[in-house]
Amino acid sequence: MTQRLYMTDDSLTMETSVVRCTPREEGQFDVVLAATLFHPQGGGQLSDRGTIAGVEVVKVVAHGDEVVHVCSQAVPQGPVHIEVCAATRALHARLHSAGHLIGYCGEALGWHAVKGHHWPGEARVVFEGMPGAHAFDAPAIEAAANAHVNADLPRRTDVQGATRTIGFGDLPPHGCGGTHVASSAAIGLIRILKVKEKKGQLSVHYDLEGV
Ligand SMILES: [Zn+2]
Repeated sequence: MTQRLYMTDDSLTMETSVVRCTPREEGQFDVVLAATLFHPQGGGQLSDRGTIAGVEVVKVVAHGDEVVHVCSQAVPQGPVHIEVCAATRALHARLHSAGHLIGYCGEALGWHAVKGHHWPGEARVVFEGMPGAHAFDAPAIEAAANAHVNADLPRRTDVQGATRTIGFGDLPPHGCGGTHVASSAAIGLIRILKVKEKKGQLSVHYDLEGV
């Protein structure tokens, strides 16, 4: 079982150890660590990138109770230094955290967020209308989400056993396994790009200024 330190620790570098390194197709290697700071792909978020002992981590996947780092070369077993790419982490955490804020704003109008997809260039939150929901007003939602950004709301993390919840400021916490900014101003300005309706669901597409 891999210790998933990214759940409670924003650090990008640490010393840990390689438990296993096995070859896979295309000349790559699956590396399992005793503990990791790398967030695997999942929950609507791409994986972190970075290096293990200087070897490139191409992608990271969750497999059962292990986190598997797909590396471009073999890494010897034993003590190792790992480094998560700061720019990639920041981009993914900003996009994902923006999804939380857009979710709050939609819910304030009676829309329930059912899915988030936070990949760069294709980020969206999917909502379903609850009874009595107000019309989905994209400019109003964008303004409300950016008011939360400008308020620089601190992230609140609560871990109970295997469950972690994330909230911003006094807004309600949600169970979530992704990576987040430490406070909402780090997201930067959110732009709602378009809203598409299909089979009773609204897909709200967004990006961030300067991304
Ligand atoms: Zn989250």
